Amino acid sequence: MSNSEANSLPKKVAVIGAGTMGNGIAQVFASHAVETNLIDIQEAFVDRGLAAIGKSLDRFVKKEKISSEDRDAILSRVSGSTSLDAVADADLVVEAVSENTEIKRKIFVDLDQKAPAQAILASNTSSISITVLAAATQRPSQVIGMHFMNPVPLMKLIEVIRGQDTSEETSGKVMAWSKGLGKIPVEAHDYPGFISNRVLMPMINEAVYCLMEGVSSREGIDEIMKLGMNHPMGPLALADFIGLDVVVNILDVLKDGIGDDKYRACPLLRRMVAAGHLGRKTGRGFYEYGQ
Ligand code: NAD
Repeated sequence: MSNSEANSLPKKVAVIGAGTMGNGIAQVFASHAVETNLIDIQEAFVDRGLAAIGKSLDRFVKKEKISSEDRDAILSRVSGSTSLDAVADADLVVEAVSENTEIKRKIFVDLDQKAPAQAILASNTSSISITVLAAATQRPSQVIGMHFMNPVPLMKLIEVIRGQDTSEETSGKVMAWSKGLGKIPVEAHDYPGFISNRVLMPMINEAVYCLMEGVSSREGIDEIMKLGMNHPMGPLALADFIGLDVVVNILDVLKDGIGDDKYRACPLLRRMVAAGHLGRKTGRGFYEYGQ
């Protein structure tokens, strides 16, 4: 790939969903001089997303990674909207709404009508089939998965998922754009959980079985995986970070999609979700977190 291809970026991007992932994705595009529109269903959600970008950029200023002028310029490139009409001039739309097939399918139907004919429609889904989302549109060759990692401004990987009908051209553009963002894209095909969650979730699940069976304490399990396998975070702490409800949901997708009981969520994990102990976001999961 030539340098110019590596530096290529879309001119205008729309990000749908201003939550954890959406605001991070918008921040990364705007940080690379791309005009970015951040869209959510309510103004309060858009404002929260914009405020999160501001806070994140402030941290970069404090660490002297960017200047305060850079921060202001980046913020000036992100606009907010509560209407999908704002995708009308986008070259790339990245959907990052809640992980729900019906909500996402409906958005892809609307995006197909509102985005320019040549625009690429990407989803940041962790586990929903890209082929299913593509089939909701009249442009399945221009639909692809761009699975960013959390926290988006810091994590290098983008798992790029090709649906059944994704074209070479679409995937080539998205690989080049991902590199233009300073990320490292890696391609995967459209199977349940792709690569990242298909490998990660069974490991987390097994760690929960170890805890349930009393093989070691939560600290013991996490320390062994950190020190022995060089993981930056133990699997139980990571599960708390991801959200235990999200972990169960993805295990269910793996079990149903691949049809193998080895992906069955550990009963302890289900019981914790039933009790509302979802990890960091509720203040309690495998560990306790202060407000
Ligand atoms: P989140 O709950 O923080 O944000 C979702 C946002 O989508 C909310 O602000 C919500 O108001 C908005 N939304 C819902 N319906 C909408 C609609 N019809 N139109 C516009 N906006 C709508 O969720 P998140 O953690 O940012 O996850 C978003 C996506 O990214 C999911 O598909 C998730 O699987 C995926 N993902 C999450 C992570 C993670 O660690 N959180 C990592 C990788 C991928």
